[in-house]
Amino acid sequence: MEQRVVECVPNFSEGRDKAKIKQITDAIEAVPGATLLDVDPGADTNRTVVTFAGDPQGVAEAAFQAIAKAAQVLDMSQHHGAHPRMGATDVCPFVPISGVTMEDCSAIARQVGERVGRELDIPVYLYEAAATRPERRNLAAIRKGEYEGLAEKLRDPAWVPDFGPARFSAKSGATVIGAREFLIAYNVTLNTRDKALASDIAFELRERGRVARVATGSPYYTKGKILTYKENAYPCGNCDFTGRTVAEVISHCRKAHGYNLEDLLRANDVDPAKPLAGQKVYRAGKFTHCKAIGWYVDGYKRAQISINLTNYKATPPHLILEEARRLAALRGLVVTGSEVVGLIPYPALLEAGRYYLKAQGKSPYIPIPDVLQTAVFSMGLSDVQPFDVQRKVIGLPRGFEEGLVTLPVKEFADEVSRDTPAPGGGSVAAVAGALGAALASMVANLWQDKVESREAASALLRAAEIAQQAKDQLILAVDEDTQAFNAYLEARRLPANTHEEKAYREQKMQEGLQAAVRVPYQTAQAGYQAMEAAWIAVQYGNVSSISDGAVGAQMGYAAVRGGAWNVLINLKDIADPAFVHDMQTQCEALLREAKRLLEQVAAHVDKRLAELIESKKP
Ligand SMILES: [Zn+2]
Repeated sequence: MEQRVVECVPNFSEGRDKAKIKQITDAIEAVPGATLLDVDPGADTNRTVVTFAGDPQGVAEAAFQAIAKAAQVLDMSQHHGAHPRMGATDVCPFVPISGVTMEDCSAIARQVGERVGRELDIPVYLYEAAATRPERRNLAAIRKGEYEGLAEKLRDPAWVPDFGPARFSAKSGATVIGAREFLIAYNVTLNTRDKALASDIAFELRERGRVARVATGSPYYTKGKILTYKENAYPCGNCDFTGRTVAEVISHCRKAHGYNLEDLLRANDVDPAKPLAGQKVYRAGKFTHCKAIGWYVDGYKRAQISINLTNYKATPPHLILEEARRLAALRGLVVTGSEVVGLIPYPALLEAGRYYLKAQGKSPYIPIPDVLQTAVFSMGLSDVQPFDVQRKVIGLPRGFEEGLVTLPVKEFADEVSRDTPAPGGGSVAAVAGALGAALASMVANLWQDKVESREAASALLRAAEIAQQAKDQLILAVDEDTQAFNAYLEARRLPANTHEEKAYREQKMQEGLQAAVRVPYQTAQAGYQAMEAAWIAVQYGNVSSISDGAVGAQMGYAAVRGGAWNVLINLKDIADPAFVHDMQTQCEALLREAKRLLEQVAAHVDKRLAELIESKKP
């Protein structure tokens, strides 16, 4: 049950009037399920960039409410500013963070766009991943001519909006809505004040590369003489190859260096369709989706490689950093750390942490806070500014600031023992399963780097991965189980005087009961995963840990058995016979499997322990 998080970064054409901006952000904050993260007004641009995030439904609703409020309080006919724009809500991208795909975000963009067009009468263009045709993918192309040219643009059949009227609205202009990847603004800090040294590395990293030079043997590339294309002599720029024709060098760059030379030339404002003789030779950088320059930051008294990553899934920040560290070392430089400007998505930091753990031969499947801390330390993210995970990471799994899971073990036991019906067997089953999964993870992580066979090592890593997932899910279920039961109790207390009240109460009670069935069923499923991980752990871990794995399997079974009983006790009041039948069948199958697995673990463990005692006899 991965948490689903979408980010939305609308830009509004107002950067000076704080009261108007506040009306727009208030509209966002009023929507449950959306959280306002940042408001960044610019006086010169007369534009405000707002960032909020949440579940897909909440974010879609908040985006619509913000666009509606901007249409009400802003007037484009009075707007002047330094940034290109065409509407009161100028652009509104949806960005996948975790548990959602780009396709999901495109669907949200279409749904919000349709509603904006229909309910607010604003022309809407879809862009990037949500674009309806290739020429509308690029924001700059859609915005060309800006607000002042919009009335004419709307008369052009090629620019009929995707939603809303093809009619100019002087007050609101047009809005561009779409879906795109998260942009990470990432700086690598060097132990120098010299901007030129930072630029030299930046040009090696960035997608558009640099002007090619004759190699001098010095790592400082700028020392060599600039290469140019000549008639019948087209140098590659990366190696000694020289093509006799342009086609030859294009083909060589693709085969030998893996990039499209024509795209590279265009990125450097050279038209490859025109004769190239006399033009400078360019060579590609090491990473795609990467823009980079060198600069000097007075506040830090150091030069930085300033990087924009437009697709962190293709080019993750930790790989950029490792290459920067290698290139710096060649030049006698030291990378002192790195800096995230704004926010970083949770999956990017998680992947970075796992990358460094693997490099150290450690298990990457340890508690998530530990993985994230490894990333912060390994990347030196607190070098120039403190890096606070809670504040800087977007889409973090739900925290545990409150609820039963924050109680010490003794207080939890006391709370269960009091004369209130909840927390009860469902929450206790979930705690048992979480502890079982934790034991399986412990054994797997303890032995994954000490076993001899590679098969055993990879089986143990797999067990650690399954166990960590099951553990986190079961921890969530401890409170969810109690909440689901309380929701049912609240529904029972609803008034039932009129016919409508009775029907509403019955509907709420049924919803509460179905939730009170689903949560323990998920507990039972996750408990079974804990057992599977424990079974791997007792087989491949060292025999000295075999009793830990065995207890893990036993606790996992308590979650399966306990979860199933909690499903059954709530099923008796559910009115939908198909739902009841389905759940009964699924519980029976799961219990059969769990029972078999428990016997298998117990037989294996008892046999090994008996052998162990036998071998120690004098
Ligand atoms: Zn070459």
